[in-house]
Amino acid sequence: MTEQIYSTDAYAKEMAAKVVDVDADDGRVLLDRTVFYPGGGGQPYDTGVLRIGDDQLEVTRVTSDGHGVWHWVDGSSLPSVGTGVIGAVDWERRYVLMRTHTAMHAMCGVVWDRFKSPVTGGDMREGVGRLDFELPQWDPEDRDPIESEVNRQLGLALPIEVEFLPRAEADLDPSLIRTKVSLLPSSLREVRVIDIVGLDRQADGGTHVSSTTEVGSIEITKVESKGKGFRRIRFQLTGEVE
Ligand SMILES: [Zn+2]
Repeated sequence: MTEQIYSTDAYAKEMAAKVVDVDADDGRVLLDRTVFYPGGGGQPYDTGVLRIGDDQLEVTRVTSDGHGVWHWVDGSSLPSVGTGVIGAVDWERRYVLMRTHTAMHAMCGVVWDRFKSPVTGGDMREGVGRLDFELPQWDPEDRDPIESEVNRQLGLALPIEVEFLPRAEADLDPSLIRTKVSLLPSSLREVRVIDIVGLDRQADGGTHVSSTTEVGSIEITKVESKGKGFRRIRFQLTGEVE
């Protein structure tokens, strides 16, 4: 398995790693450790480069399977097993995704506080996100107070902590599985939990910033009806961060 550096240090931008497997047919290499997020939970995979001596390969796609994290690269010559590489993510893109992802949690927390409504889905790209909620009691006038409350919470500089709970302990707290439709695979021994302290705490595999102030602020751009009782809330980041 690949050591998932992004899982404990979202701010790691580069890593030294070794090639442990090569799939020439698909043009991808498995590394022993990585800072590249392979996608999941609505957060897209990272892009970036692998450097091997003076050569540089573009990483165009990242996926994970039972063997570890695969880095799909452009170029005809793949490094062989045992080769040392330096990997670097496209940090500008990844950091915006971390801010967007964290904003999604803030929105989940505020909607949960107000309506006790579970998330049924979500998706994001850089600076733009959408969340689906089971929200039968929604009124169009709820939009502004929800937006203001998300921004007020973001402005509180709430810390965002990563914890790893033993599976048995996590199972005792069903509120951790906020996403109504997705249950954790039974094989999972340890559950990674993301805690925006005081606002939102849920099982999650993605990357987040470490304080809500890094998100800046958001604007709700649209609220759509997605069938009886279901709403899709679209938002974008508006705040600039120095
Ligand atoms: Zn998350």
